[in-house]
Amino acid sequence: MVPDTEKKRIVIKIGSSSLTSLQGEISRRKLEKLVDEVVRLKDEGHEVLLVSSGAVAAGYRRLGCLSRPSSLPEKQAAASIGQGLLIESYSDLFISHGYVASQILITRSDFSDENRYNNARNTINVLLERGIIPIVNENDTITMDFLKFGDNDTLSAKVAGLVDADQLIILSDIEGLYDDNPSDNPDAELITQVQEITPEIEAVAGEPGSAVGTGGMRSKIDAFKIAMASGISSFLGKASNPDIVYKAAHNEAVGTYFSSDVESNNLDQKQQWIAFNSGPEGDVIVDASTVETVIEAKESLQPENVHSVKGDFDEGAVVRILDLEGEEVGLGVVNYSSETFKQIKESESKDLEQYQQAAVESDDLVCHLEISIPIGV
Ligand code: ADP
Repeated sequence: MVPDTEKKRIVIKIGSSSLTSLQGEISRRKLEKLVDEVVRLKDEGHEVLLVSSGAVAAGYRRLGCLSRPSSLPEKQAAASIGQGLLIESYSDLFISHGYVASQILITRSDFSDENRYNNARNTINVLLERGIIPIVNENDTITMDFLKFGDNDTLSAKVAGLVDADQLIILSDIEGLYDDNPSDNPDAELITQVQEITPEIEAVAGEPGSAVGTGGMRSKIDAFKIAMASGISSFLGKASNPDIVYKAAHNEAVGTYFSSDVESNNLDQKQQWIAFNSGPEGDVIVDASTVETVIEAKESLQPENVHSVKGDFDEGAVVRILDLEGEEVGLGVVNYSSETFKQIKESESKDLEQYQQAAVESDDLVCHLEISIPIGV
């Protein structure tokens, strides 16, 4: 890999295990190491956004807990104390190097609303362009467990897509992606380069819903899929390795690089929103020939090609596009409500002329076959 000397926009995600001591509290030393490395990149003129966990770790002692709490309300209460302390620590450290940090808390519903999603982009762009280091975290104090982004991994990839980052660096407690879980298999080998997330790569990360299905390597693979589909190259490496961030940004680090250059995957920002953030409100069902000639060919879907619809949705909603077997083949923004689709179905062919608009424009359509990421990850 060629060393990289370009000025870049870089999103760095660090997990709480890489920021805490053995007792589960925030480690000042680990925080300082990260900040020093970010400062090195800033001094070179790069734009850096941090996605940092650690609010629970920073707050549980002041809540009166002797160890990291396990119940959701206690974790959220600890995060409510810790988030401010965490940002204060980051802020103090960055200021001592002459840089300003800012805090952005996000919930998944912020991203499912297209206006709020676009607004987040505008805010973050202003911060990055003015040399500030935005520190993003999930709004842990209010987000319900089942609505979480998954230990910030997928949040970091979505944020990288949102701000059109050049690189996503995910720091963990492990050297990179191995061909088997290294905690079970001592002979597992590091994979240094991933061109495409194949079923084999998915398999080494463990099944979704398994013990490693929350956080762990599973959510990292989902994050890398999102980044790759968004045209962003990524890196996974060990947070404690010396100069890891600096070297990763210059393509010189030991770890796993995920390339972005699978041409078909370059979703534009609207398509990224549809694919990874929107949350579909209903289903549009099409037959096999429409799947082939329209969805896979990325043509606009016409109203007469819609076989049927399921659910109640308004014009402008995001829907899943299913084949007759119920298999998801795409996602798109509809130009008609579910009611209008039903009226179209009942209309005589001479009356169809009034429905001139496509059911889904090609620009508003994401063919699921090219990404195959479960929606809402
Ligand atoms: P973090 O807290 O840094 O986000 P996690 O603990 O969630 O990190 O995930 C990293 C862990 O995933 C590793 O320590 C390792 O035990 C586990 N893991 C499972 N499968 C693999 C694999 N194929 N390659 C590397 N790590 C794996």
